[in-house]
Amino acid sequence: MKALVLGGGGREHALVRALSLDSGVTDLHCAPGNPGTSEHADNHVINPVDGLAVTELASRIGAELVVIGPEAPLVAGVADALRERGIPVFGPDQQAARLEGSKGFAKEVMEAAGVPTARSRLCRSPAQAAEALDAFGPPYVVKDDGLAAGKGVVVTEDRAEAERHARECGRAVVEEYLDGPEVSLFVISDGIHALPMLPAQDFKRAYDGDRGPNTGGMGAYAPLAWAPEGLVDDVMETVVGPTLTEMARRGIRYQGLLYVGLALTSQGPRVVEFNARFGDPECQVLLDRLATPIGGLLQAADIGGLSSNTKLEWRGGAAVTVVIAAENYPADPAKGDPVTGIDAASALDGAYVLHAGTAWSGVRDLTSAGGRVLDVVGTGDTLARARERAYQAAELIDLRGSFYRTDIAERAAAGTA
Ligand code: AMP
Repeated sequence: MKALVLGGGGREHALVRALSLDSGVTDLHCAPGNPGTSEHADNHVINPVDGLAVTELASRIGAELVVIGPEAPLVAGVADALRERGIPVFGPDQQAARLEGSKGFAKEVMEAAGVPTARSRLCRSPAQAAEALDAFGPPYVVKDDGLAAGKGVVVTEDRAEAERHARECGRAVVEEYLDGPEVSLFVISDGIHALPMLPAQDFKRAYDGDRGPNTGGMGAYAPLAWAPEGLVDDVMETVVGPTLTEMARRGIRYQGLLYVGLALTSQGPRVVEFNARFGDPECQVLLDRLATPIGGLLQAADIGGLSSNTKLEWRGGAAVTVVIAAENYPADPAKGDPVTGIDAASALDGAYVLHAGTAWSGVRDLTSAGGRVLDVVGTGDTLARARERAYQAAELIDLRGSFYRTDIAERAAAGTA
């Protein structure tokens, strides 16, 4: 199989790596990719949001599978363009991707499908937002209705900050605060059959102890030994099934990855958000643990090849990823600084490094080129061992001003999550 991955972050490096380990994949491409993906794939300098450029590239290389990593190409309709040309693609059409692209649409679908989620109001003016903030009370949750790469959400006790964010959003979704630990459940869907992956957990705040601003994600681990028994079956039955049915009722077939972000509240699981693609960095740990070759699996989601008998195989043990972030991430990340220590970190047993925001400068000098620069992955028989290895590897990375959270998977590894 010839495969093309769209995107250039840590998630895409993990996808390229997993495809490179699938013996059924003979030819691997990435656009635009990064220095990490170039170890396994041919990188192509195109804009992954440009449907025409993507279909031209996919046709030229004879791609039999295009995997769309980030949300922007999905929302721009790149999957539609590929399907129109008969090219198999892992990623939902534009209409289906509205589950992520419009929080208002996602809420409407959830309500129609009877999916448990936070009560919410779509507000079109500061007055409407103020009324909704009064109705739900603190802590306040205010979200941009449009796509904001997971960064358009403010959760705060500060009323003025909540009002300010609502004003900045224009169309804002104000909702009730959900208490309880968060879990990400990824589901591979062909529109009819849906296959759950292992639940994973990510860490969205920038600093230890869940302090600081929301980010794209500072680390993740799987599996979750502490997750309630029956959680996956419960979510498949109360969330995923009804959502896919409601989408189908609207004439929308959901093919690709459905990311269900959940809060495990005292009243049971509630959906915090849907995303239309693999979460980054949960993808990195899940693909590490997935034993099923992914090429055929992701292709099957497009060509209706999943069945109720399709099962995913998982390796035992655990994986932890720790994100090395640039100085001043997420507000104003420093770029262009030398990055060293990757070879030493990768040489450690049970550890490797994925590139998230790097670039070559000159011939072979690696520099930082994004807010999240590297994802260090540690694996082991136990979560504690995986965690130890990830942190041993992270210590060997040298990037001026960079930082990482030191508490990724800490409580889970200690059995106190
Ligand atoms: P979203 O972009 O909707 O995923 O929100 C980003 C993050 O904000 C989530 O992962 C949560 O940590 C937090 N968040 C969003 N909605 C709520 C809510 N209703 N209650 C509590 N926290 C929330």
